[in-house]
Amino acid sequence: MKLARRLQAIKPSATLALNARAKALAAKGEDVVVLAAGEPDFDTPEFVKQAAIDALRSGFTKYTATAGMPELREAVCRKLEKDNALKFTPDQVVVTAGGKQSLYNAFQALLDDGDEVLIFSPYWVSYPDMVHLAGGTPVIVPTREEDGYAPDPEAIRKALTPRTRAIVLNSPANPTGAVYSRATLEGIAAAVRDHDCILITDDMYEKLLYTGEFLNIGNVAPDLVPRLLVSNGLSKSYAMTGWRLGYAAGPKALISGMQLVQDQSTSNASSITQKAALAALNGPSDTITAMVNEYRERRDLFVAGLNAIDGIRCRLPEGAFYAMADVRALLGRSYKGTVLTTSLQLSEALLNDFLVAAVPGDPFGAPGYIRMSFVTSREVLQKGLKRLRDFVAALQSV
Ligand code: PMP
Ligand code: GLU
Repeated sequence: MKLARRLQAIKPSATLALNARAKALAAKGEDVVVLAAGEPDFDTPEFVKQAAIDALRSGFTKYTATAGMPELREAVCRKLEKDNALKFTPDQVVVTAGGKQSLYNAFQALLDDGDEVLIFSPYWVSYPDMVHLAGGTPVIVPTREEDGYAPDPEAIRKALTPRTRAIVLNSPANPTGAVYSRATLEGIAAAVRDHDCILITDDMYEKLLYTGEFLNIGNVAPDLVPRLLVSNGLSKSYAMTGWRLGYAAGPKALISGMQLVQDQSTSNASSITQKAALAALNGPSDTITAMVNEYRERRDLFVAGLNAIDGIRCRLPEGAFYAMADVRALLGRSYKGTVLTTSLQLSEALLNDFLVAAVPGDPFGAPGYIRMSFVTSREVLQKGLKRLRDFVAALQSV
């Protein structure tokens, strides 16, 4: 079957693909330690579920406005003002089926063929593919672990061209867990100030912060707010990955464009989910605090365990819920007679023979690393560490 040319540059989502493989093995009765997709193991808070049940019972089961129910868009504006000190009006907000769709719609609305989007590596796997799907060209700007993955303003200046339409900022970051400081954000702001491009901030992990404070670039550079598109969602902070609820707030013209894309593709996010989201945004935040406290304990346990393994090194992430481990010291060793040369091969051996699902760094633009999410129980994390130790012990120097 001949498929569209634009699909030729697209890869399946490595995180979702590995997660599906691990879950299929688990369904067959295998005792897999799944550290693949970033999916909280907490359940959605009860009061949020109740709002959805009430919506169903009261027959709130019809289309809503494409951009989302007015009350929900108002709640998003209140949230952005209260939590982020960013002022938007409801006509500057579009509610989507997940943060993924917000970003997808944004690229579809913004990009003409060959338009460029700056993306810092390591990056979340989906950014470059979403840009490709919109006909754009991702321009990857590397960051370094030694710098805490803070982008270098000079590298940004060099990467900007007349075709740069947008730059994507993701802090706390997937996969590195890096959180941008005020000084880092000021440096980025200075680099892009004179270049007419949109600043897309993917604030999905905003609440998942273990040290420091969350800042959006709009907080340190208020003059850039008119070209700011904030993308966020409830998947991570309210443990609602399956509900599919995201939102974006930004310049009216861009939001209208994104709404147009949605009008002719998915229409509104599920009406029931929107009611649940309204309850979540208007409700108490103590469930988030409890989750973050637990994740912090898990992070400390898991990262310390990784660093205790000879050949694995892991930076302590300040946010999100991923451990990005440097496994370059293990490459070049042999396993079952084959020399491992990539983290892709290493992940394969780990899954096939040690039943640990860890995503290779390559699709994040981080070869030589593997990403493991620590949003699973401490017992499972300990089991994962034991298997990693067994795996490393089974490697032979050549
Ligand atoms: N941004 C980042 C950085 C992510 O890791 C994810 C993955 N869930 C998303 C956006 C999208 O999340 P969702 O579509 O579930 O809202
Ligand atoms: N964002 C999560 C991850 O990186 C969920 C899977 C996905 O949407 O990529 O694992």
